[in-house]
Amino acid sequence: MAKYKCKYCKEKDDEISLVTEIIEGKRQKDHKDGKWKKGDKYERKVRYHQSCHDKQKRENREWDDCYNTILDAHGAEVIPPSFVGLLQRLRNGNPITGMRKGDTKHFKQGFPYPVIAECYRQKKDLILWKKRQWDGSDGKFFHFVLSFYILDIINGVNYKMENEKLVKQKEEQQSQLAKDYYDEDEEWTFNNEKNKNDISDLLG
Ligand SMILES: [Zn+2]
Repeated sequence: MAKYKCKYCKEKDDEISLVTEIIEGKRQKDHKDGKWKKGDKYERKVRYHQSCHDKQKRENREWDDCYNTILDAHGAEVIPPSFVGLLQRLRNGNPITGMRKGDTKHFKQGFPYPVIAECYRQKKDLILWKKRQWDGSDGKFFHFVLSFYILDIINGVNYKMENEKLVKQKEEQQSQLAKDYYDEDEEWTFNNEKNKNDISDLLG
């Protein structure tokens, strides 16, 4: 059976364990031998494990929110493309400065997008204040903010949000346990009612 790579986790798997998504795109350039022209539409198949596909969709929503939060914190209309690449490195756990060797060893080991977004929310006032005094380029300001304001608090914010997630999971587990217990109790009462009837039948 043909094996394909899951686009999310990069593991190869049998075709049957993967779901397929068709992506439509437009050619950016003319093909050198004339097979297509710039602007032609094309379709491309990408494959995912179902659970990876769900994760990918959630992450896309989280990325959109993160992007908009950063725009808002900067009072900007667009994020420079090179900076978008940097945010993705931060997400994946690759160093955002210095050597870029060994990048592939990391897989989503960095900071989730909601954590990055939360840091920008917390620093919004400071960022807007600093922006008014900034006389360098916009691109440099994005880097400045990330290096000096965001990286400064990101470990703490990540730790706090991870903890809150664990507490919430535990609460949900406990309320599920309580619910299961209650359901059993219901059943018991019901059976007990039935037994009572049975006894009264006997007495009758
Ligand atoms: Zn996968």
